[in-house]
Amino acid sequence: NKPAATNFIKQIVKEDLDTGKVDTVVTRFPPEPNGYLHIGHAKSICLNFELADEFGGRTNLRFDDTNPVKEDVEFVEAIKADVKWLGFDWDGLFFASDYFEQMYAYAVKLIKKGKAFVCDLSADEMRQTRGTLTEPGQNSPYRDRSVEENLDLFERMRNGEFKDGEKVLRAKIDMGSPNINLRDPAIYRVLRAFHHNTGDKWCIYPMYAFAHPLEDAIEGVTHSICTLEFEDQRPFYDWVIEECETPSRPHQYEFSKLRLTDLIMGKRYLKLMVQENVVDGWDDPRMPTLSGIRRRGFTPEAIRTFCRETGVTKSPGVVDWRYLEHFVREDLKLKAPRTMAVIDPLKVVITNYPEGQVEMLPAENNSENEEMGSREIPFSREIYIEREDFMENPPPKYFRLFPGNEVRLKHAYFIKCEEVVKDENGKVIELRCTYDPATKSGSGFNARKVKGTIHWVEASQAVPAEFRLFEPLFAQKAEAAAEEAVQEQTTAVEASGEAEADAGNVDASFLSKLNPKSLEIVQGFVEPNMKDAKGQDKFQFFRHGYFNVDPKLTTAEKPVFNLIVSLKSSFEV
Ligand code: ATP
Ligand code: MG
Ligand code: MG
Repeated sequence: NKPAATNFIKQIVKEDLDTGKVDTVVTRFPPEPNGYLHIGHAKSICLNFELADEFGGRTNLRFDDTNPVKEDVEFVEAIKADVKWLGFDWDGLFFASDYFEQMYAYAVKLIKKGKAFVCDLSADEMRQTRGTLTEPGQNSPYRDRSVEENLDLFERMRNGEFKDGEKVLRAKIDMGSPNINLRDPAIYRVLRAFHHNTGDKWCIYPMYAFAHPLEDAIEGVTHSICTLEFEDQRPFYDWVIEECETPSRPHQYEFSKLRLTDLIMGKRYLKLMVQENVVDGWDDPRMPTLSGIRRRGFTPEAIRTFCRETGVTKSPGVVDWRYLEHFVREDLKLKAPRTMAVIDPLKVVITNYPEGQVEMLPAENNSENEEMGSREIPFSREIYIEREDFMENPPPKYFRLFPGNEVRLKHAYFIKCEEVVKDENGKVIELRCTYDPATKSGSGFNARKVKGTIHWVEASQAVPAEFRLFEPLFAQKAEAAAEEAVQEQTTAVEASGEAEADAGNVDASFLSKLNPKSLEIVQGFVEPNMKDAKGQDKFQFFRHGYFNVDPKLTTAEKPVFNLIVSLKSSFEV
């Protein structure tokens, strides 16, 4: 593994180790188990794990499961599988919900220090009295409750004496702070909801902004890396660590989220796409989820290289999706066997080839990687070629088949088109060609040259196959970007605490902008040895691109291939 280029977070870690501020670097990847991981998460996974790996530290996988409403064990298992697939092994596996008792104790400590109070204002009233960027907020009328009263009320919150939303515990900081996050934010709320880990044990739950620093501190995390929306939360993060007097002192660092062109990545959007059945589940090969791009055929190596090469910065930027595709191509170039597939077949009968005869021809498996060896492929009187490799009335410079023209069949012979057979509607249904035995591939024949080489599959042994071709789910860049902006706002609201419970309602109108051409299914043929292909096997189909055997749809009779990426793109690295 090539070490990551340096980045500002790495510099900080290095300095902290050099100055002895920390002995060992401890990072964590803290997903909320409310959906499947996407490529953006891969960025955070790679950053956290590679940072600790490079400096001999540790990385925990911690499920940030403090919001019971949206969380589920299905997601926990999927996230673990995705992190492993990417190639990382966590040191500790933790659930934030396992710390609820400790978090409660820290909240009690704050009350005792006069740093937290129980407030009876409704969520709406809290929002109205919070002030704005230019106006200070107003103190809650409940702010001066005595420590005893607060301790009593908080315990009664825990004991279930109040209705959902009736009371909250708030940090007592400063309603005049220029940072809205420091204006007495809520830290505990009453919420009756079944939790996937703690069941019905709790009817109060800590707010994310309070829980997160404590989770980090409890685990001895040294560098808590998060995305830029949380920058304004850092003062509150520090306040929690300071006032709770946690034995360990984690620090938060922010970097900008990975975004990709033509892509909606926000979990809540992906979830809606799954719920509304516009895709075939979280692992639909068009989805930007790790399970989706895995099923599509992207490799962990390519994703890791991509995450490394796109760097870690504080400036928001959108990365071209084709940059990721570039690394996939690079990774598969020498690894994927190259074979022939015809995805839109047209039958060719070679009239001067003996009937009933089948010969085996050698074909190398990867012209750029000799180590991959070779295979034998059958050739006979009937073959399939690609429909688009024939034109009855070709334009100038068309070097493939047309009446009277000769082309090379890859690994086989030259054939010449003698006759075109059509059905009653005038559609071409067969070509009748002749071959020249002297032109056999590998024979050194050079008496005449042809300009076109096309691929083919022998008809009697060809394996019927399905090919799934993809375009982006959302074709309109602008709209995708707009949707992401809305999502950022919601994330900001979520981060700010009080509105956490109602954040996450998304406008479903984006679903109508789905690219109708995002999935095209075609039927064709592959070489006979492909009947042994297993789910997730990857191939380069000559002249078409890289394809992955779909692990869900493939049957013993018929392999299904997902287009991973075409062979070339206009994208320049
Ligand atoms: P989403 O907004 O898609 O729902 P999230 O941030 O809410 O994502 P979490 O489960 O909380 O999802 O994320 C786990 C970790 O992954 C967090 O540390 C988060 O900052 C990071 N992360 C999420 N999206 C990205 C991204 N696009 N780029 C880099 N890191 C990301
Ligand atoms: Mg989150
Ligand atoms: Mg989220």
